[in-house]
Amino acid sequence: MAKVMIIGAGGVGSVVAHKCAQLPEVFSEIMLASRTKSKCDAIAHQLPRPIVTAQVDADNVEDLTALIKDFSPELVINVALPYQDLHIMDACLNAGVNYMDTANYEPPDVAKFEYHWQWDYQKRFEDAGLIALLGSGFDPGVTNVFTTYLNKHYFDEIHQLDIVDVNGGDHGQPFATNFNPEINIREVTASCRHWEDGKFIETPAMGEKKVFDCPENVGSFNIYRMYHEELESLTNHFPTLKKAQFWMSFGENYLKHLEVLQNVGMTRIDPVEFQGQQIIPLQFLKALLPDPGSLGPLTKGQTCIGCIVQGIKDGKKIKKYIYNICSHEAAYKEVQSQAISYTTGVPAMIGAKMLLQGKWTGKGVFNMEQFDPDPFMEDLNNYGLPWTVIDQKD
Ligand code: NDP
Repeated sequence: MAKVMIIGAGGVGSVVAHKCAQLPEVFSEIMLASRTKSKCDAIAHQLPRPIVTAQVDADNVEDLTALIKDFSPELVINVALPYQDLHIMDACLNAGVNYMDTANYEPPDVAKFEYHWQWDYQKRFEDAGLIALLGSGFDPGVTNVFTTYLNKHYFDEIHQLDIVDVNGGDHGQPFATNFNPEINIREVTASCRHWEDGKFIETPAMGEKKVFDCPENVGSFNIYRMYHEELESLTNHFPTLKKAQFWMSFGENYLKHLEVLQNVGMTRIDPVEFQGQQIIPLQFLKALLPDPGSLGPLTKGQTCIGCIVQGIKDGKKIKKYIYNICSHEAAYKEVQSQAISYTTGVPAMIGAKMLLQGKWTGKGVFNMEQFDPDPFMEDLNNYGLPWTVIDQKD
């Protein structure tokens, strides 16, 4: 039994709070802290048991350290924005508390998705006898564990990894993002990078497209190659990988809107002078777009996210596909959120459970693939994200 502090009361924070509250035998006491306390209180109101709520600006390391020391949790679950990662890691070190997140640090002024800022904390966490678990969402997160599981149980050596993230859902809005619009648009407009023959190769954003047939009648979707942060850690930890790519589905409507917004400069992340004030166009756009949290009751359909791995077993080439299918409507019925927040929040709860139950232990900074995948995979089946492994043909 342990106390946890969840930071961030957005779409993902809400699911993490629901799932932790459902397991009092693991998460005995919960604090939900965020920039806007009323959002924490609204979430607390939906939960089956009382939790503590608090206001905090996680970028103020001194205030956050004081709050963590006061509540004294065993673990801080960071589901605020990637910009806060380093400040929350600093506060955890100050307070002597373990750390976990679902997305790697991004500097606000440049859209770079790199682990080195957080890997640089290795010695500080190790010396403090603490653990920092990075990227315990779905992608990154479950995709790392899926790859590790296939490597452990099906292959002698893995050679190619294709992560495929399909959102077959429809929210009926002309243009909306399923998670924080600023983070989402920074990610999809960045240049593509994929791993091939020992190095990352850069190509234009959305330059590569193909049709992907999802299993179990989820449907066929256009998927586009893009960069995603788990490619960096997975190619680092699985040096036998010769090629690694990440693919995501986008509808025509989404891409058409995005192209226009880009062309007119609305996705820029550098400050622009407007009526005597400095504004960042992408932040202004975020204020106009639907709040992803409001899409929950509107979204129908399913997500299908998984990994296709090729390699050798007993001298023969084999190809396996491991995936989860998640229903937007079922997620909403259970925790009042659509499946994008659900598929991120459930693995965040499970990652926290692995640490608190001592199934994953260590001192320092870790990615998901550095641990035994089996207990995590078992909990995916137990807590709402069941998975399937099939043979895949070319
Ligand atoms: P939201 O924008 O819905 O929520 C972010 C929350 O963080 C908001 O409540 C916001 O407060 C709060 N916040 C922002 N800045 C601060 C701060 N300085 N101090 C305290 N609180 C702050 O985002 P999501 O819930 O969609 O995403 C949360 C995280 O999950 C992001 O890091 C995202 O990248 C990650 N993610 C990971 C995925 C994965 O599969 N690995 C998939 C999807 C998301 P306020 O309400 O006041 O704005």
